[in-house]
Amino acid sequence: MRTQKCHGRVIAALVGGTALALAVTGTASASPSVRPAHRAGPDRQVLPARDGWAAYGTGTTGGAAADAAHVYTVTTWEQFKAALADGGSAPRIVRVKGLIDADGPDCASFAAPGYDFDAYLRTYDPAVWGRTRTLDAEPDDSPEGLRRASAAHQDAFVKAAVPANTTIVGIGRDAGFKGASLQIQGVDNVIVRNLTFESPLDCFPQWDPTDTADGNWNSEYDSAVVHGSTHVWMDHNTFTDGEHPDSTLPSYYGRIYQQHDGELDIVKGADLVTASWNVFEDHDKTILVGNSDSAATAAVDRGHLKVTFHHNLFRNLVERAPRVRFGQVDSYDNHFVAGEGYSYSYGIGMESQLVAEHNAFTLPAGVKAGAVLKKWKEAPVTAGDNYVNGEPTDLVAVHNAQVPGEILRSGAGWTPVLRTRVDRPQAVPGIVDHRAGAGHLR
Ligand code: CA
Ligand code: CA
Repeated sequence: MRTQKCHGRVIAALVGGTALALAVTGTASASPSVRPAHRAGPDRQVLPARDGWAAYGTGTTGGAAADAAHVYTVTTWEQFKAALADGGSAPRIVRVKGLIDADGPDCASFAAPGYDFDAYLRTYDPAVWGRTRTLDAEPDDSPEGLRRASAAHQDAFVKAAVPANTTIVGIGRDAGFKGASLQIQGVDNVIVRNLTFESPLDCFPQWDPTDTADGNWNSEYDSAVVHGSTHVWMDHNTFTDGEHPDSTLPSYYGRIYQQHDGELDIVKGADLVTASWNVFEDHDKTILVGNSDSAATAAVDRGHLKVTFHHNLFRNLVERAPRVRFGQVDSYDNHFVAGEGYSYSYGIGMESQLVAEHNAFTLPAGVKAGAVLKKWKEAPVTAGDNYVNGEPTDLVAVHNAQVPGEILRSGAGWTPVLRTRVDRPQAVPGIVDHRAGAGHLR
């Protein structure tokens, strides 16, 4: 086993997936009480009062109250998953050191016996299969069946389930995951900070001939998904496609072989989430708040999906920053920097109640301010005190002037009160560009 002295305690190391000795030194200060945020180290800090929707009600403390037996320092994916699995729902702190490889040795290591991508391409070529049938009924021994079996192996490997009352925190400036998919599902009270997430690459995208007139390759694995969970604080993280931007992906059947899904999806009745001081960059479909308009989803999501985004940098994204359904989303003091391929920033979806105020947008020549908002469904939006390229801009008015077929109504019908400091939008780029993201926690 390996132990490590830190902050006067000997911290458990995990070997072979099992927690070993958990000795505490005489100088331990493992008080279970939560110290004030300004005095605690990053691993024991809690969400400040009134800091966004995650501060509502009982607030968000993550694992701040962990005793010494539930503080883990991990350097491998196996250790990380073991630390999450250990100790039930007792408060825990998982300290991540370095960049952890979470995607296995290679895609071939997940392939089921008999899986052959060339056979897959031959079988489902639109010239052979057509474009009106999905592959859902394909049997287990078909190319699609073998793809499903292969995908299941990857799924089990790259996903990590995060339990309640947990803080996951990167140590130093270079901590994070390559290809991980954090599942924050059905739990309360989780903090994730100071980590870089390089997007997972789906090794086995599924061809859907019926997704749009041309078909699409669709992938699983968001870097993090908040699924039916409450009180989640995502702070000072960097989400990026890293070394595998979409521009490096091949095309088959004339469609991009899309191996990415979302960077952070908040879905299925999730509620009370604060995302602050993160960088979301170099990605296509960035953030969903709510993932379906269906009646079943509406029954789960309506009245939930309350999320605050503040002081985030959204840089070089295509769309969904975020795309909102149902929820009361407060987005203020964020900086949006559009690049090549920009489509839109805020998606106005079914029954959404978006408030977007005090944000700064940096748009290149050729991208109009009217593109910032995208209307998917009839839903009102509050958009005041936003600046585009340094100029005060009424985002709803310019949208309605430039996209006459999609008239948006002003007035989301609620007023956010869970805000701490609000910076002037003119100052936001200077503040956020230098302080958001992993490595900038202080
Ligand atoms: Ca790897
Ligand atoms: Ca997703």
